[in-house]
Amino acid sequence: MYGGAGKRLELTEQLIRGLPKVQLHDHLDGGLRPETILELAKSHNVELPESDPGKLTAWFSMATKKRTLKEYLKGFQYTTAVMQTEEALSRVAYEMMEDMKNDGVVYVETRLSPLFHTGMGLNYDQVVESVLRGLREGSRVFNVKFGLIICAMRTMPPEGSLKMAEVAVRYRGQGVVGFDLAGDEVGYPPKDHLDAFYYIQRNNFNITIHAGEAFGKESIWQALQYCGTHRIGHGLHLKDDIMAPGNHISEMGHLSRYVRDKRIPLEVCLSSNLDTGAVPDLIYHPFPIFYKNGFRITLNTDNRLMSNTTLTKEFMIAVKLFDLTFKDIEKLTLNGMKSAFCHFPERLDLIYTSIKPGFAQIKENSGSTKNK
Ligand SMILES: [Zn+2]
Repeated sequence: MYGGAGKRLELTEQLIRGLPKVQLHDHLDGGLRPETILELAKSHNVELPESDPGKLTAWFSMATKKRTLKEYLKGFQYTTAVMQTEEALSRVAYEMMEDMKNDGVVYVETRLSPLFHTGMGLNYDQVVESVLRGLREGSRVFNVKFGLIICAMRTMPPEGSLKMAEVAVRYRGQGVVGFDLAGDEVGYPPKDHLDAFYYIQRNNFNITIHAGEAFGKESIWQALQYCGTHRIGHGLHLKDDIMAPGNHISEMGHLSRYVRDKRIPLEVCLSSNLDTGAVPDLIYHPFPIFYKNGFRITLNTDNRLMSNTTLTKEFMIAVKLFDLTFKDIEKLTLNGMKSAFCHFPERLDLIYTSIKPGFAQIKENSGSTKNK
């Protein structure tokens, strides 16, 4: 996209997988391995729509082809149903870390809502502690850094959101790095959950909110100016505030200026946006408008199982559709690391000891330091 002169590196899937990447928007209950779901279904007495791993993968991704966020969220009834014991939660968290390692991710922020994992008697603390155990063990074995984000749900009563906010703050310093509001957006404005957001703010903690995915720019505005969010999950509808013929901005409103000028990170998830019907086709995705015009964009997977994707695949999609260069991938990765909720020294450490050297090494190995 910003390629400039000079021969360009060929951005193969293998090369991108080898690059040290950062993932900020990944739902733990949206990324289970199909084999794991099948095994856990037995101990949880859950009846699944398919009994073969391949067919189950297809079922999950076909289920998303209904193209509304509401339909998309239906797949979670099965994934959450098999994550109801301490062992299951730790296992899923551990396997996610291994999957990150295999995908070249060096820092991941994964998220889940303890509200969905109490069906077999666990309390919220047991849910979080089990997940953290799996993440810590995975981090030790696979050398991937992590942060856990606790989600509240738009569609559930605000009292539950406050409870989730309290859980998030309680486990700060033990691996939890922030608080999120997720779930169906239409008819469920974020400002209904102000008590939870005020609690997080009063405790000097981190907020990200799914906003502007299935609903308009008002949702983004509320997330920022009522709820005090530090990042925006998706933020697609920010484009409603921008006139950009040929992807170059000719006019923009105060909201989009604010997001750009304050460097508010947008957690973009391409495949997911297609699967939930947020965009009819990825060629209409506002990614190039945001990216070319200086917004702080990060690239993420959202739900790897439901969208049958990986972070490498998401970068491949962006490379093909939006003509990204090696340098663009590095910039998006640095955007991700700068926007992470871990502490500033940890971000710097990963940038200077892992990300920059990793990109430099692969560029050198690919035979041309002049390449973009
Ligand atoms: Zn999400």
